[in-house]
Parts: sequence; C-alpha cells; structure tokens
Amino acid sequence: MGIYPPKEFIQQANVRDPAIYSRASENWVEFWEDFARELEWFEPWEKFLDDSKAPYFRFFVGGKINACYNCVDRHADMRNKAALIWEGENGETRTLTYFQLYREVNAFSAALRELGVEKGSRVAIYMPNIPEAVVAMLACARIGATHVFIFEGFSARSAGFRLKDSRSEFLITADGYYRRGEVTNLKEKADQAIEQYGGIKSVVVVRRAGIDVEMVDGRDHWYHEITKKGYTEPEILDSNHPLFIMYTSGSTAEPKGVVHSTGGYLVHVYATSKLVLDLKPNDIIWTTASLGWITGHSYGVYGPLSVGATVLMYEGAPDYPDKCRTFEIIEKYGVSVFYTVPTLARMILTCKTDSYDLSTIRLIGTVGEPIEPETWTWLYREVGRERAPVVNTWWQTETGGHVISQLPALTPMKPASVGKALPGFEVAILDDGGKPVKPFEIGNLVIKRPFPGLMLEISGDPKSYVKFYWSKYGKRVYFTGDSAYMDEEGHIWIVGRVDDVLNISGHRVSLIEIEQVAMGVKEVREVSAIGIPDRVKGSVIALFVVSEEASEEVGRKITEKIERDIGKIAKPGLIVFVPELPKSSGKVVKRAIYDAVVGKKKPAFLSNPEVAEMLMKIKPSER
Ligand code: ATP
Ligand code: MG
Repeated sequence: MGIYPPKEFIQQANVRDPAIYSRASENWVEFWEDFARELEWFEPWEKFLDDSKAPYFRFFVGGKINACYNCVDRHADMRNKAALIWEGENGETRTLTYFQLYREVNAFSAALRELGVEKGSRVAIYMPNIPEAVVAMLACARIGATHVFIFEGFSARSAGFRLKDSRSEFLITADGYYRRGEVTNLKEKADQAIEQYGGIKSVVVVRRAGIDVEMVDGRDHWYHEITKKGYTEPEILDSNHPLFIMYTSGSTAEPKGVVHSTGGYLVHVYATSKLVLDLKPNDIIWTTASLGWITGHSYGVYGPLSVGATVLMYEGAPDYPDKCRTFEIIEKYGVSVFYTVPTLARMILTCKTDSYDLSTIRLIGTVGEPIEPETWTWLYREVGRERAPVVNTWWQTETGGHVISQLPALTPMKPASVGKALPGFEVAILDDGGKPVKPFEIGNLVIKRPFPGLMLEISGDPKSYVKFYWSKYGKRVYFTGDSAYMDEEGHIWIVGRVDDVLNISGHRVSLIEIEQVAMGVKEVREVSAIGIPDRVKGSVIALFVVSEEASEEVGRKITEKIERDIGKIAKPGLIVFVPELPKSSGKVVKRAIYDAVVGKKKPAFLSNPEVAEMLMKIKPSER
C-alpha cells in the first residue's frame, strides 16, 4: 500500500537498492563508518563507539576532525559555484561562492581570535537569516568555539535565558532585521539580554538594516571593521568536541540546551542529507526553517555544505509582501529540494501553484510537527506535481538529524505517516512496561541503539539528561517523549507528545488527531488543542482556533466534525477564537497557551500583545 515513488526520481536517486536496510542491520558499524570515510579526518578514529559510560555515548573516539574544514575548505576550489544564495525580505540578494565563503570565514575566524575567542569558548549568535550568520557559525566551528544560536524573533528575556543557561562569553548579533516590512532593532534586544545576564565580554554587530544603534565602547565592535583578510588555521578537534548548543523549541517544557558533537553529528547530517534529502552537489536546497532551529543547522548549513550543494537562504516572512512569495522564490532560483514545515504549507495552501514554474523541484520534505493528509496531498500533487516524492522526516533537536523517514526512492509514501526507521537505526514502540505494542496500538516511541548524531548531553544539567531520556526504559534505550503506532506494514504514525494523549474516562484521546479533524473544517486556518484542568471533569479539551470567520457557527461545525470523526469522548469543552497562536520555530508552543490560560502567565512567542491579554482572561473553570 502507499504511493510509489515517481520513476524519474528513482532513476537518479542516491539510494536505490533496498538491500541498504538489511546491510545496515547486519553491520551497522560499517554502515556509519562508510559515510564517515567520505568526510575528511585529520586523524582516523580508533573506536566507532564507546558505550562504557552509558547513557553518555561517544562516537568515532580518537578521531580528529573540523566541521568547517569539511563544509568549506574541502570545496573552496569551487570558485565558480554558489555555496549560499541569499534573498532579503526587502528583495536584496547576495551570492557567496564556496571560495568567497572560505575567504569570509577565514577572515572572521581571525577577528574572533583577536577578540579572545578560543577553543572551547561559548559564542552566542543572535541573528536573523543572513549570510553572516552562517559565516559566524562556521568561523566558530573553525576555531573550536561552541556556538549557541538564538532565534532573532526571541524577546530579550528569552535570549537572556539562553545566554545565561549556556554561559556564553561572546555575542554576535546584527543592528536589525526585516520582518513583514518592518525593521526590528535587534541590537537593543541584545543589549537588554546582555544586561540581564552580565557574562558577555565582547559583542560583534553586523550591519544589516542600516539603523542607528548604540555601541558600547570597548565592548561592541562592528563586524565590517574587525573582519579583515587572512587565513586561519582550522583547529584539529576531537570528534567529541562540542560543535554547538541548540535549545529545544520549548513546546512542552523549559527549553533544553542540547549539546552536539563535531564528528558524530557531522557524519549523521551528511549521511541523512544524502539518504533522505537525496542531496547532490548540483542541488539548490531551500530549508525554510530559521537558522535558530536545529533544522536550520542540520539541513540549512552543515548537511548541505558538507555534501557541497548550494543553500538558498531567505530572511523574512515567506508570505510577505505577497502571500505566495514562497513560490516566487522557488521559481526564481530553481530550488530543487524544498524542505519545510507543515505550518508554512498550510499558510500558502491557497496559492495557485500553476501560476509558477515549479518544475525544478525534485524532492519535498517536511519536519517538525504532524502533517494532515490534506496538506500532504497538496504538497505532493500541487507543489511537486507528482514528480517529487514527499518525505516526512521525524527527528528532534536531541537526535541532531533524521531518525525516521521514507527513503525517497524506496519507501511507498502514505500521506501523514513518517515511514520507517532509517537504515542504521533501531526504533520501537513500547508500552509503559517496556513490551512492544501490537500493530495499531499506541505506545511510546523509543530508539533502541545510539547513533552518531545523538546529543552529548544537556548543557549544565546532567540530571535532566538522565531523567528525560534515559530513565523510563534504562540507560540504553532512548525515550523520545512522543507516542506513535505502527501499521501492519511497519510504517510509523506519530500520534503526538506523550503528554498530548489525554486520558478521558479511561479512553486514550489524541490531541493531534483532534487538531487534524478540526483542520478539516474549511474555515479553520490553524488550531491547537490542549488539555486543561476542569473543576468538574478533571480535565477538558480546549481548542484555540485561528479563523477568518470566528463565529459560533464555525465552533459548532468543529464540534460536530470531531464528534462524528472521533467520537463524543473527544468533544471540546472550550473553543476559543484567537487572532494568532504563540509560536517558536514555526510550531505552536502549547506550554505558552497553557501557562497563559491556567497559570495566568504572560506568554512569550507572541507578536500580538492583545492575544496574550485574551488568553489570560479566559477562566477555564467558570464556563
Ligand atoms: P521541547 O522538547 O522543548 O518541548 P520540541 O520537542 O518541540 O520542544 P524540537 O526538538 O524542535 O523541540 O521538536 C521535536 C519534536 O517535534 C518531536 O519530538 C515531535 O514531537 C515533533 N516532530 C518532529 N518531526 C515530526 C514529524 N515529522 N511528524 C510529527 N511530529 C514531529
Ligand atoms: Mg522535545
């Protein structure tokens, strides 16, 4: 069952032989080592895996490598090839060839060293999607500094939390950035964040928006003034040297500072870029995620550049000034691999795709949240025109790269399923006692064997590392926190977070399923379902709905559809129409809604302050 990958695609795919699965399961070490050997190492590893200190797993032990060297130097003689094509929201464009990127990274690495950045320093990057942000990441990687990227849309308070939690000593930022036609003063937010924390020694500011900003004498430096010419020797780093810290989205709890390695991480994203995204050197990949999200790191920078492909990068809102700008960009640059999130797809679903030449697209990928069959089918039919397979990739900040997905030339696609565990991975769905569940039974998704992209640790918080991931099933089985089921053919379907499965009068009700059904009502543009405490029933389902037509009539339609498609048990106790949902890295932050409604705490992640007021006024138990 399922939709078979298009023939033209199969013929040119990186992976066409189904034996890859059995080969990888017979010899998983060789499977990973073969990919590792395609990268350049200064010294080979002595041991593939050291698991003697489980749950701290170390890969490619003894190997010496540099991620920047593999992404940039290795390709620098391609002086006629774009590493990065950038478009600003205001229409500006820039291209950096591999050689120019090499030059720029070398020069900025030297500037950082002069400021006192050393191997092991932690450098925060609070920046919009502009080329210098990629240069900054790679320059840190070159000199062995650990970068900590902070999404530019975060408030000063959220940025301050991350600076402090990661104990960053340096900060790279920009004067401002464009979003929906307006310029935000980022430097001002950065200054407030620095003030909250107090541990930042030097600040580098990139001029992007050309606005007036205050520069603190002795502490702040303009990027263009300190970046001169020169070559900087890449540091020879241990495979398990921390490349970066990335905070989880914070959808369910406080964001966690996930620390990733250099060697294992790079091997993982390099391999999966080839296996899953089918990347080749002549591709232009557009990963629509911001750099401040793990997807931006793994498949917007390190994966594609290690393969030698071209990265397309866009600064602003993908639906501004024209709702269909996404398609203008794909057409203009001939994007061949389009990697995006369901939220964006839903935003542009009404665009007339036949007004654009989208014939260059040969693969579509989605990530980050469940995708409903309607949106999946639209991507497959209207965007990819049934020529491009759609891969639905499941992974997490903590896993560094893809874990579960279709292999685009091999796995029949079932709309909304995430396919199977990738070769080299062992995934299972267990009940609370640790036994595998039967097909179609919902259970906890686990990964039974470590893999190279697995995080090294949670920054400064060994207790959480063990508690969240390695307590439920012991020190060798990674607990993902997601629930899922498998169909009779072994395809996996993500049901949501373990917490998204509510127990209502003994029935398991999935909040994601409710959301997907509600999305089937024509007037519903976005919806988030959460369980909130109720004086009478213990817990009720509350729906927060974005709709152009906020009316009782629409509310009734939603309730009726849920009762019809799932059952009376899933009937929402509360439907609230809101102009906007709180989001981080494109996905809804349910914790923020919960905190506003139940805890009366003002949510971050909202661009519209009225929504915060509205959410805080809701009195869940007095309906
Ligand atoms: P936090 O861990 O702080 O609560 P988060 O889990 O949202 O935040 P991420 O690491 O960005 O942070 O997201 C990983 C999660 O996203 C997964 O655990 C899963 O719930 C969801 N997810 C990722 N890819 C998919 C997918 N293809 N289908 C369904 N859900 C997905
Ligand atoms: Mg998570």
